[in-house]
Amino acid sequence: MSDATVIKPDLQFVNEIIKGGGESLKKCYQCATCSVVCNVTPEGNPFPRKEMVLAQWGQKDKLVTSADVWLCHQCSDCTAYCPRGAKPGEVLNAIRKQSIKEVALFPLFAQIATNPALVWLLFAIPAVLFYVILVVLGNGSFTAPRAEGGVMAYHKFVPVPVIDTVFILTAIFAAFSAFTGIKRLWSGMVKNSGGAQGSGSPFSHIVPAVTTILAHKKFADCTVNKGRQLGHMFLFYAFAGLAVVTTWAIVYLYGFELLGIQPFGIFHFGESPYPMSDPVKLLALASSVAFAIGVVIILMNRFAQAGKAGIGSYFDWIFLTIVIGVGATGMLSWALRLADMEIGYFVYYLHLVFVWSLFAYAPYSKFAHLFYRTTAMVFAKYTGRDK
Ligand code: SF4
Ligand code: SF4
Repeated sequence: MSDATVIKPDLQFVNEIIKGGGESLKKCYQCATCSVVCNVTPEGNPFPRKEMVLAQWGQKDKLVTSADVWLCHQCSDCTAYCPRGAKPGEVLNAIRKQSIKEVALFPLFAQIATNPALVWLLFAIPAVLFYVILVVLGNGSFTAPRAEGGVMAYHKFVPVPVIDTVFILTAIFAAFSAFTGIKRLWSGMVKNSGGAQGSGSPFSHIVPAVTTILAHKKFADCTVNKGRQLGHMFLFYAFAGLAVVTTWAIVYLYGFELLGIQPFGIFHFGESPYPMSDPVKLLALASSVAFAIGVVIILMNRFAQAGKAGIGSYFDWIFLTIVIGVGATGMLSWALRLADMEIGYFVYYLHLVFVWSLFAYAPYSKFAHLFYRTTAMVFAKYTGRDK
């Protein structure tokens, strides 16, 4: 007679999932409708039914570094069709939150980014950091000297080299955190799949995975939440556009100051503010509009589908709050500068707080899906799970 398998449930893990948005977990009675309706899952051994039972049984080790948990695109088709209202899409989202904590380089940061009781600390860290900088610069009363021509200019409020130093250090912190998380998730996925050996080098699967992401192909397979693809696409490319704008502004400034490149044609090398005719301004405007459209589509879609797909948890909403905060304070501080209203300095300070929160917490908040879903998609292609 073979030995019985003894399952040791991690009850704390089950409670964390329930508290983190998966309160409906226990309703699942394993009918597998969710796995049938999910158009994103690979066919063999599909998700999310098996994740539901593993979560009910508190099988933390099998879930926190599972590739399938990250292959889910949270389209919520499964939630809409679940006959028990067990909301598997929300449960998988709550498991991803646990996954982020598990692979985090600094678990404290993951706690701050995901625990509603610590929301004050999440914003207090950058708020104090930038306020101290302003006090040192002599601008602690949220005013600043005027730039050439008497115009308001935020680089007089916080000089660009100061901004660059803070954000380069933040970017290094975030990149190192993300790299560590990706490494830990990859090792866990290999272990979880019994040491799966893939075809060729994992690196050879990065381009196909990234191409799928850029085209938002997986979102196109969702049925209930169709609007999510469009909203996500607008936001994704708005972020990409704003990243280009930031790099472009750095090239303008240091190209002028360090390499002596003079303004020519429509390219205004040197310090901001730049005229509206400059391509960097046009790209910033286009990206901002795309950003606003993306946020509106995502919010409208979320409320319209709340009954079927769920409204989301704190994990989703704090990320959306930061994203909206970045966009709203960015556009408002721009408008206030054009209107020459000095309240713009305070709004710009809030903008820095939101931008810092977005980047510093990126590998610890819902933003981490950018790194970890990409990793899971590369792994799925590497191991032949996603053909
Ligand atoms: S989550 Fe719902 S649809 Fe999926 S197996 Fe459980 S009860 Fe069935
Ligand atoms: S949320 Fe969408 S992708 Fe995720 S398991 Fe459900 S149906 Fe599949």
